[in-house]
Amino acid sequence: MAELYELTAADLAAKIASREVSAREVTEAFLARITVAEPSVHAFLTVTPELARAQADAIDTRLAAGESLGPLAGVPVALKDNLCTAGIETTCASQILRGFVPPYSATVAEKLQDSGVVLLGKTNLDEFAMGSSTENSGFFTTGNPWNPDRVPGGSSGGSAAAVAAGEAPLSLGSDTGGSIRQPAAFCGLVGIKPTYGRVSRYGLVAFASSLDQIGPFAHTVEDAALLLTAISGHDERDSTSVPRPVPDYVQALTGHVEGLRIGIPAEYFAEGISPEVRAAVMSAVGVLRGLGAVVDEVSLPYTDYALAAYYIVAPAEASSNLARYDGVRYGMRTARSSNHIELFERTREEGFGAEVKQRILTGTYALSHGYYDAFYLKAQKVRTLLQRDFAAAFERFDLLVTPTTPTTAFGIGEKSNDPLAMKLSDICTIPANMAGIPALSQCCGFDTDGLPVGMQLMGPAFSEETLLRAAHAYEAATDWHMRRPNL
Ligand code: GLN
Repeated sequence: MAELYELTAADLAAKIASREVSAREVTEAFLARITVAEPSVHAFLTVTPELARAQADAIDTRLAAGESLGPLAGVPVALKDNLCTAGIETTCASQILRGFVPPYSATVAEKLQDSGVVLLGKTNLDEFAMGSSTENSGFFTTGNPWNPDRVPGGSSGGSAAAVAAGEAPLSLGSDTGGSIRQPAAFCGLVGIKPTYGRVSRYGLVAFASSLDQIGPFAHTVEDAALLLTAISGHDERDSTSVPRPVPDYVQALTGHVEGLRIGIPAEYFAEGISPEVRAAVMSAVGVLRGLGAVVDEVSLPYTDYALAAYYIVAPAEASSNLARYDGVRYGMRTARSSNHIELFERTREEGFGAEVKQRILTGTYALSHGYYDAFYLKAQKVRTLLQRDFAAAFERFDLLVTPTTPTTAFGIGEKSNDPLAMKLSDICTIPANMAGIPALSQCCGFDTDGLPVGMQLMGPAFSEETLLRAAHAYEAATDWHMRRPNL
């Protein structure tokens, strides 16, 4: 018999609802697993056992009283530590926010609480979500549960590692340039970056506001669909959230992909993609074809410029968003200042890590007088061209399939001194953020080192149901999602 911590969220929810197990027992199983796994994985910045037990007990009381609760009631979840949680420290893995306890919760956290979800804790990330490995965390690096010498990916590496290690059945991350999909690929999970505007970012600490989205990590497509349904929807506190009805994404999982038109963009299989990744993704495409999908090649000619344009747009927005950390309002404050200018300067000097400082400098430069047109404006024009590439492709195709990452999980330390190599790991994921379209990563095999390979599905805005339907059909035809790492 599988242990409780090995079950999917859907199975746990069913057992809790039928009162075969209590929410409290489920929570205890994950808290125990956290104790076992954390010494090698280091996924959590904060664990909230008392809160989790109280929330689980409250669910059990309501079930005992005969209430029927939502489809995730009693299921535990972990949240990336850039999502504000009232009364619980929220650091963005930055020293500058050490000790910051938000007075309010992110909309997604509130929605999960309303769904009866149990909060296990807050997970590690690259500082302010800037990075691809969690090595930029201001606290510690998270290990990949498939091999602790490898990175779990980033920036949502803690959220991915927690689910992969069985420390939580579900988690939320944020994705500005791949930070959900890349760690999902490295950890063998399903990860979704929803359409820009699908999920409210109220209470998500802003990195690059025109790109940021929140999304789920899960072992299965069904679990990801459950969590996406719970967090989606309009919110008047985030003016970019779109007032559009939220479907029940689980209903989209029909198992049918006959006639679905799938495009294979040549640019995503070019030089730099490891042969093992290419082979695994192409064989997954073969599975989808066998299920009745119609597959053809397509070209997205501006793909090559996406990474460069992203590294103008994202730092520019970050330089503005991070101006608020001044030692006055949030988190830490320098002990060495004799006037307010020194207070700002020294707090920022002591509080921010090297990657964050580098991005603030680049972003400020790109926005400064005389350089704005050459950098920022040009990057915005490239962004429009990328959007047109996708628009043209989606006239012929329902979705596009690519690798999620050029390689499987790299070693801790392997790329930390080579910023270009690090940034190239996001080359397949960044275009979807630049275009605002939804994208999903799922496991499509393992390499010769036993590390998971990720396949990415991208579709037009608000095509989450199509992505989920195709991913679910693929999952039903394969068994990669059943594998669990040996800790
Ligand atoms: N790795 C990319 C970066 O460093 C994307 C990060 C993200 O999606 N938050 O900016």
